[in-house]
Amino acid sequence: MINIADVEKLRTFFRSGAVRTREARIGYLKKFRSSILSHEEELYEALQTDLGKCKEEVWATETGLVLAELNYTIKHLRRWMMPESVGTNLVNFPSSSRILKEPMGVVLIIGPWNYPFQLVMVPLIGAIAAGNSVVMKPSEFSPATNAVIKKIITEVFPPDYVMYVEGEGAVVVPELMNGFRFDHVFYTGSPLVGKIIYTMAASQLVPVTLELGGKSPCIIEPDANIKVAARRIAMTKFSNAGQMCVAPDYVLVHASVKDEMLKALQAQILAFFGEDPSQSYNYGKIINDRQFSRLSAYLGDGTIYHGGKTDRATRYIEPTLMTDLKPDAGVMRDEIFGPILPVIPFNTREEALAIIEQHPNPLAMYVYTASRKKEEEWLKDVPAGGGCVNNSSWQFANHHLPAGGRGNSGIGNYHGRASFDTFSHRKSILKTPTWFDPSFKYPPFKGKLKWFKKIIR
Ligand code: NAD
Repeated sequence: MINIADVEKLRTFFRSGAVRTREARIGYLKKFRSSILSHEEELYEALQTDLGKCKEEVWATETGLVLAELNYTIKHLRRWMMPESVGTNLVNFPSSSRILKEPMGVVLIIGPWNYPFQLVMVPLIGAIAAGNSVVMKPSEFSPATNAVIKKIITEVFPPDYVMYVEGEGAVVVPELMNGFRFDHVFYTGSPLVGKIIYTMAASQLVPVTLELGGKSPCIIEPDANIKVAARRIAMTKFSNAGQMCVAPDYVLVHASVKDEMLKALQAQILAFFGEDPSQSYNYGKIINDRQFSRLSAYLGDGTIYHGGKTDRATRYIEPTLMTDLKPDAGVMRDEIFGPILPVIPFNTREEALAIIEQHPNPLAMYVYTASRKKEEEWLKDVPAGGGCVNNSSWQFANHHLPAGGRGNSGIGNYHGRASFDTFSHRKSILKTPTWFDPSFKYPPFKGKLKWFKKIIR
């Protein structure tokens, strides 16, 4: 049960102005950085427990990514906080115009379990940088990582500044959102729950950022470098056992290179994880029994070209390549979010586009081609949150690129500067001196139309 009086204290803290200055925010961000570094080993253990991730993967996709975001934010915060001068139009002469960056206030960050550390910590960095107080609610399905997150949060931030909340989302989140009016809600998770969050926020006109999922296609043209494509796709599709929002969901390969692509993908899986990935240091596990059951059911949806083995006791699903899908295959109905990769041939662009359009506005799209013309055509024809050319998923790990979806895959974006902007209100200010106050702007207006037409256009 959430005590709303505790949440109210965050508003008091926010209003106190304690984190109005850049120095105060930078101080907390630096303390935050030191605390993460001091808990590095515990984070490795926790992420091994929750998801079977090896240390190197934890650094590349969790801790290292968060530290890079912290370093970048600390370095650039001064510039981001500065008021922006903008132009002023003739009708407002001799005013000046600027945009102030105001914190939103008290914000709520809700996270998923698949990258349980970075998907709450990166938004937190943006929220702190922009001067907000924060309630953080991670997913209940990553308990080991949450225990370390809780330690870090309580070590670095006073509870009235950043409040850590645990529990079942369906219970805790409505309690929070119906009991208190947040100034912004930042949610990462499934589109299904995203709609529930959006509805609750709408009833109080609370702005939201929704970082959702979707079926991200990966298109292979005949002129692609197949070996490199297979390597990059296999790397990101099977990283974290496929439980990655920007993983390639399915491959659309030109029929002329389908066999070559399948062979190359298989060779890469063997090269990365060996004959028995269940014993591989590099291969993770499925988060819980529910997800294991959901994913296992997909294995009957087509022909298994490679993989297909499972073990419920260890929640292991082998990296799997699937072809010849049944017409109503469940694996093509929803986002897969696991280590099963359907490989679907196409002959014409129209055929491929028709498949993509069954799941419009994916979070990401990937195109592999040597042709600039084809690259441009695909980028133009597939509306998506973001994507890569001749690569997959790595766009998410570049803090210069705002990360977010569109339509079904989300609203808004974050990372780097975009995080600061997401958690700030841009307050537009016009300042007008008093030494000049032409009477033509004031009533009576009769006869002034010709002047208005000259000045306002
Ligand atoms: P989820 O929607 O089940 O849970 C996310 C959060 O919502 C959790 O904290 C959970 O406690 C809470 N929640 C669950 N039910 C709720 C309810 N009824 N009301 C309020 N809150 C509730 O998502 P998940 O399974 O943890 O994550 C998987 C999904 O997240 C996938 O679709 C994936 O693509 C997406 N995702 C997106 C991104 C991104 O950056 N866009 C990143 C990671 C995951």
